[in-house]
Order: sequence, then C-alpha cells, then structure tokens
Amino acid sequence: MALIFHSSIKRDDWWRAEIGKHVPDLEIRFYPEVGNPDDIEFALCFNMPEGELAKFKNLKAIFSLGAGVDHFFKDPTFPLHIPFARVVDDELTARMSEYVVQHVLNHHRYQIEYDQQQKDKSWEVRHAPAARNRKIGIMGLGELGQGAAQTLKYLGFDVAGWSRTEKNIEGVTCFHGGDQLNDFLARTEILVCLLPLTPQTNSIMNADLFTKLPEGAAIINPGRGPHLVDDDLIAALDSGHLSGATLDVFHTEPLPEVSPLWSHPKIRITPHVASIAAPGRVAELAALNIDRARKGEPLLNQVDLSRGY
Ligand code: NAP
Repeated sequence: MALIFHSSIKRDDWWRAEIGKHVPDLEIRFYPEVGNPDDIEFALCFNMPEGELAKFKNLKAIFSLGAGVDHFFKDPTFPLHIPFARVVDDELTARMSEYVVQHVLNHHRYQIEYDQQQKDKSWEVRHAPAARNRKIGIMGLGELGQGAAQTLKYLGFDVAGWSRTEKNIEGVTCFHGGDQLNDFLARTEILVCLLPLTPQTNSIMNADLFTKLPEGAAIINPGRGPHLVDDDLIAALDSGHLSGATLDVFHTEPLPEVSPLWSHPKIRITPHVASIAAPGRVAELAALNIDRARKGEPLLNQVDLSRGY
C-alpha cells in the first residue's frame, strides 16, 4: 500500500526522507506518478488537482499539508466520507504569532509611513501610543488566533478577538457571532484576519466592514486571499480611512504582476509565508494519524465537515 503526496513546493527527496523516518513501511508516491490508484491508502497534500482524490478507492485517510482546508472543498468530488485531518502544531502557531507581531509592530510604530518618508527624505516624528493604548482585533480565535492574541497580550497590547462561538480567554476581550461583530470592529485599530475560508467568511473584509473600523485603522491578512475584497481595500486606503495593509495571501497565488496591490504605497506584501508547516512536524503528525487510521481510531485534528473548517 502507498501514500500519495502532492505539494506545489517541489522538494520530493526531502519529503521522502521525512515521511520515511516515521513510516518506513509505507511506499511514497509523488503525484502525478500515482501508479495503480487502488494501492493508495493515504493522501498527504495541498491543492491536489480537482477530481484526483476521488479516484483512490482504497483511501483510509486524507491529510492536509497545512492548517487550512478550504482548498480541498473547492473540489466537488472531494470524498467527504474519508477521515480528513489538518495540521495543528505548536511550531506552526509560534511562527504565525511571529508574523502577526512583526506586522502589528510595523503598523503600531508607523513603519509604512517611515518607509515613505525615507523615500522622500522627510524627517517627521510620529508618536505611537503605548501598547496598552493600542487596540488590536483578531478575527478568528482558533489555534493561530489564540496564539497570536497571547503573544500580543504579553507585549502589553489591548487585545480583542472575534469567533463564531463564545470564548472566555483571560486578558482578551472576546466577541462572537454576527451580532457582536460591529462592536468588535468599532474598537479595533489594527485588524488581523486569522479566519478559515468558508462561505460565511468569504469577502468578509469589504467596504462595509472597513467603514465600521475607526479612521486610520490598519489590516493584516495572513488568513486567505478571498477573505478580502481587493478593490474595496484600495478604495479605503486611497480615501485615507485605512492607513495601511499587510497581505500574505491572495485570490491568485503567485500574485499576478498586473495586480495593483504590488505597487500601492500603503500595502506591504509577503508571498504566503506567514507560517509554513515544517516537513518534520507534518510527517510526524501524519505518522501518528496513519497509525490511528489503520486501527480505525478517530484522527488527531480531524476536520469537522459540518463546520467546514
Ligand atoms: P481554527 O483553529 O479552525 O480557528 C478558526 C477560528 O475562526 C475559530 O475561532 C472559529 O470560531 C473562527 N471562525 C470560523 N468561522 C467563523 C465565522 N463564520 N465567524 C466568526 N468566527 C469564525 O483555524 P487555525 O488553525 O487558527 O487557522 C486559521 C486559518 O489561518 C486557516 O484556516 C488558514 O486559512 C490560515 N493560515 C494561513 C497561513 C499562512 O501562512 N498565511 C498558515 C496557516 C494557516 P470557533 O472558535 O467558534 O470555532
């Protein structure tokens, strides 16, 4: 029996070694070299081409190479009856917290404005409030959102979060559900999106949401590209209502050269690198779940299909 592997990052030898360390008895095949599809017992993948997973009749489990699973649900033939797990990992959470802190500090300390001032050779001092007077809002209080909230709290920021269900997190002002979204936004000066992409969260950062943020607010999006309506962001930046944005994820990746996001003076871009799961950790998690699937036990970090994340 075999495991099929697919990733857009082509480092086959590296992955073979990592997976082989943990599951030496399992043959690893790299998509599109599938061989006999009936041999495929497990799939470890990200952005698998549509229709492919449904061809594996003997699949016992599917593992996402990352924390997000929206890319699987784009495939109308995705085999919903097969146990399906995502990556939840301390290191992945810590890396995301680093990213969020790095860019919150950039906005908090006016780095985007100072970058422009350097280009203009302009010496203008801006006074950042103390962290305790800076209100950060995190949309999504799951594994990554809570990790970022705790780290920002440790730095002294005034942190709030918004989730689907009610949360009680010491030192974090918690909001939940559609009814509390406006109150959460009204107090948010730097908005961080760490939501999963679902039909409910698609395009959530749009013109209407921006008007509910205070004047001068900034946004950071390491969630998913379709959370954001790009044209609405550009309009809100150009009108001066928003002061800046840091984007890690995009509707189309790599971000096309023609995108106006690239050259907007108030936008900072990173190439979907906020937090990438380390192969060793992913392989270790996959090995634990392979063992569980073979014993017929529920998977660790199994995706709740009824919620879609
Ligand atoms: P998670 O543990 O599933 O947490 C998701 C959070 O979002 C939960 O708090 C959930 O609320 C909330 N949520 C979901 N739908 C909502 C809705 N309709 N309204 C309000 N809140 C809602 O996910 P995670 O592990 O933190 O990951 C979050 C996302 O980060 C991933 O899905 C992925 O897209 C993205 N990501 C990006 C990178 C990168 O490098 N850029 C890396 C990893 C992950 P409840 O707590 O009430 O369920």
